[in-house]
Amino acid sequence: MKKDFYEILGISKNADAAEIKKAYRKSALKYHPDKNPGDKEAEENFKLAAEAYEVLSDPGKKAKYDQYGHQAFDGSGGFGGGHGGMNMDDIFSQFGDIFGGGFGGFGGGGGGPRRAKGSNLRIKVKLTLEEIANGVEKKVKVKRKVQAKGVTYKTCSTCNGQGQVMRVTNTILGRMQSASTCPTCGGSGQILDKRPSEADAQGMILEDETVSIKIPAGVVDGMQLKVSNKGNDAPGNSVPGDLIVAIEELEHEFLKREGENIHFDLYISFPEAVLGVSKDIEAINGKVRIKLEEGIQSGKILRLKGKGIPSINGYGSGDLLVHVNVWTPKTLNKEQKQFFENALNDEHFVPSPEKSEKSFFEKVKDMFS
Ligand SMILES: [Zn+2]
Repeated sequence: MKKDFYEILGISKNADAAEIKKAYRKSALKYHPDKNPGDKEAEENFKLAAEAYEVLSDPGKKAKYDQYGHQAFDGSGGFGGGHGGMNMDDIFSQFGDIFGGGFGGFGGGGGGPRRAKGSNLRIKVKLTLEEIANGVEKKVKVKRKVQAKGVTYKTCSTCNGQGQVMRVTNTILGRMQSASTCPTCGGSGQILDKRPSEADAQGMILEDETVSIKIPAGVVDGMQLKVSNKGNDAPGNSVPGDLIVAIEELEHEFLKREGENIHFDLYISFPEAVLGVSKDIEAINGKVRIKLEEGIQSGKILRLKGKGIPSINGYGSGDLLVHVNVWTPKTLNKEQKQFFENALNDEHFVPSPEKSEKSFFEKVKDMFS
């Protein structure tokens, strides 16, 4: 059950725009990640507050929410159709309105610039189809830039810790003032003070770290996951960048993935097709026994419901589609050859597909519908 937006911000339904803004400001300050490092609950509350504010600060969305509740924004079209909360970048971009640009008061010191963020790191993780179907936790080694032990930073004197410098330019409209990133500190508001000998010019060293990545079931080749704050650190009073994990799917020996479905080519012998047979299919999580009726046709597709890949959104699983291929013998002994020669004119061997046996094209249409 989703919590009520008014409850999240601790205000009554009659709150006016100013009260809503004030309440959000209070929540954002209280739950800001800089103030609660590593506290997942605070981060969740921080996001919830941002989501609540996003809706309640917009008269149109607020009216919809007042009338229909959270349902107003489920499904497509509405606010964040099917989304799972806002991401941090959205939230921070929203701050401009609330805190009047740059947000003083965070990251200690007061009046400072927004904390600099380190660069992102990128890695590739190769996953087997089994790992994708079940989800997996991977431990990867990354080399992260971190601040060296003993390094200290001091306030940048060029910008007085503001991270920005004002520039005055003469234009045809008169003198224009504009802010630009401080060239001395690069926007962090701080510069290196004491540097240990092993550190680079910014006071950073490279450190090996093993990062554990929880990969949900159903990921797709090329998908990127973000592990927050496991990228490079930045100098001064900063937050680390993120670790971007690109998913690479390894090809399976005999199963072929297509979205959430898996295809398997089953080869049976001619006598098996004629007499019927039970077969064990190596599905993703172990064997599945299937029974083929006597007289099964080559090209038939058997659908094993739910034996495919789970949906990344958690809505059920795809199917395992078993394609039946009847193996025609390429060499025969004399008697066998005689048997088939006799069969040439035998009515039992004359193809006579029934209406119920769909053509290849109809089956293909079926599969994708
Ligand atoms: Zn500076």
